[in-house]
This record gives sequence, C-alpha cells and structure tokens, in this order.
Amino acid sequence: MYPIYTFGTEEQKRKWLPLLAQGKAIGCFGLTEPDFGSDAGGIQTKAVKDGNRYILNGTKMWITNGSIADIAIVWAKLDGEIRAFIVEKGTKGFYATDIKRKMSLRASVTSELHFEDCAVPEENILPGAKGLKSALMCLNQARYSIAWGAIGSAVASYEAALQYARERIQFGKPIASFQLVQKKLVWMLTEITKAQLMMYHLARLKDEGRIKHTQISMAKMNNVSMALEIARVARDIHGANGITLDYPPIRHLLNMEAVNTYEGTYDIQTLIIGRDITGFQAFR
Ligand SMILES: Cc1cc2nc3c(=O)[nH]c(=O)nc-3n(C[C@H](O)[C@H](O)[C@H](O)COP(=O)(O)OP(=O)(O)OC[C@H]3O[C@@H](n4cnc5c(N)ncnc54)[C@H](O)[C@@H]3O)c2cc1C
Repeated sequence: MYPIYTFGTEEQKRKWLPLLAQGKAIGCFGLTEPDFGSDAGGIQTKAVKDGNRYILNGTKMWITNGSIADIAIVWAKLDGEIRAFIVEKGTKGFYATDIKRKMSLRASVTSELHFEDCAVPEENILPGAKGLKSALMCLNQARYSIAWGAIGSAVASYEAALQYARERIQFGKPIASFQLVQKKLVWMLTEITKAQLMMYHLARLKDEGRIKHTQISMAKMNNVSMALEIARVARDIHGANGITLDYPPIRHLLNMEAVNTYEGTYDIQTLIIGRDITGFQAFR
C-alpha cells in the first residue's frame, strides 16, 4: 500500500487502497532480481514506452505473495531510471512461479515474477516513484514494522522457554532452578526489554516525523539478530524436544533466518549505519 499511497495518482489510490486495506486485494512488491539483491540499484528489468503503454521485460525473485497477489508493484528501469509500475494479475506477458523447498517462512508464498513483453497501460506508472531512493523509502517502512515483529517472535521463544524450564525436571528439580538456565532466561528478557525500549523511542520519533532511516536500520539489524539468537537459546533450553515443531522456538529460529536477510541483510544495515557515522561508504 505504501508505494501507491506515497507515489501514486489520486485515481490509483482510490482504486487500490480501500481494497488492499480491507484485504479484498493482495499486493506484492517486486524489487529483488536473481542477480541483484543487496545491490538493488543494478536491477535489469526494463520498461520501454510504446505509445500509451509500457512494455516490461525481466525477472523478479523472492517476491512475497507473488503468485497470489492481485497487483504487483514492479520496479524497472525506464530510460536508465528506476521507476515503479502497477501490474495487475492476468496481464498478458506476466506470470509467477513459486519457489519451493523453503525451510523458512513456509506459511508464506514466495515467488519469481516473469515479464515477457508485458504491456502495462501508461496510467499504471506510479508518477512519484523516481530512482532507487523511492524504492528504499518503501523498504524503510517495511524495516520499521519488521523491527517490531521480531520482538513478537522473541517474546514467543522466551515465553516457551520459560514455561518449559519450569516444567522440565532433571536431577530431581525443574531446570528453571539451575543458575545457568536462569542466566539464559534473564539475558533473553533483558534483550527483549532493550529492543522494546528502542522501538518505543523510535515510535515517538516517527509520530513526530523526526525518525532517521539509519535509526530504523539499527532497529531492524538489532531486533532481528536478537530474535534469532533468542530463538536459538530457547531451542537449546528445550533440549531434544526443541528440534521438533511441537514447540515454537525452532520455527521462530528458521523464520528469523529469512527475516535477517530480507528488506536488507544484517550486514547491509550495518553498512548503512557505518556510512552515517563515519562518512565513508563501504558498500563497494
Ligand atoms: C522469504 C523472503 C521473502 C522476500 N520477499 C521479497 C519481496 O517481497 N520483494 C523483494 O523485492 N524482495 C524480497 N526478498 C528478497 C530480499 O530482499 C533479498 O534476499 C535481500 O535483499 C538480499 O539479497 P540476496 O538474497 O540477493 O543476497 P545478496 O545480496 O547476494 O547477499 C548475500 C550475502 O552477501 C552480503 N553482502 C552483499 N553485499 C555486501 C557488501 N557490499 N558488503 C558486505 N556484505 C555484502 C549480504 O549481507 C549477504 O550476507 C525476500 C527474501 C526472502 C528470503
């Protein structure tokens, strides 16, 4: 919704935003390509103006909801500049295939999008989306919500570990009574609390319109990494039971692996912050 809300025409907003908000239409966001992930500025998908339409050619990879979406926001280069187009499901020359055998986020569909001389009406270009900066503005919104979501994942792992530790008896006592197990639980709660406080602060800055994209990068980087590590330690507290799907931590652990990568990897967030504090960019 954000790309249409921010970069779309009034007509595009009227047509799509109510449907998307009510869940009556599903959208997807197509930026990543097989050969351009972190280096999104290099995307190869091309748009060429042809009368009153644009012709798209290229492939998008790892697109959440790609095959079930009613519309795709597709980022492509038009005369060398990155632009965004609304491509409706069923448009001739556009089809999606699902990526199989995932071990992470298995409840969510992830697809490849193919554009072969796909003709999109000229009114489907998002007029305000110009350059990589526009795509990055969208990622920024997603990173902010991911930073919150990771806390939910961490809390679920922590609560499962706490409950299990209280109930599991070894050496005649609940394992929660052992100092080493308590240390792990206390560390988890402390990390969760720190992440919650950071997000509370960032939410206030966001409400006031003062949030910086580097602060969002820090939150995404820290909170997902924290949730990943908490899921791993929670899995450890569950012993052998922890490797089964009967308990939540292993599922959170595997899911957080994908979250650590998408919308900009841990390392890319690090480089974004590194550039901000040193003045040197270390991407290349
Ligand atoms: C489940 C899932 C859903 C996704 N959904 C979407 C979606 O809806 N829409 C979309 O457009 N994309 C989506 N993605 C793609 C995601 O955004 C990319 O996977 C991500 O940006 C990383 O790109 P890549 O996988 O090509 O990894 P690469 O860019 O190849 O990176 C591989 C490794 O190299 C490191 N690396 C890369 N460049 C540098 C550098 N300059 N310095 C140091 N290290 C570097 C990375 O940090 C990483 O560790 C999704 C991915 C997944 C897994």
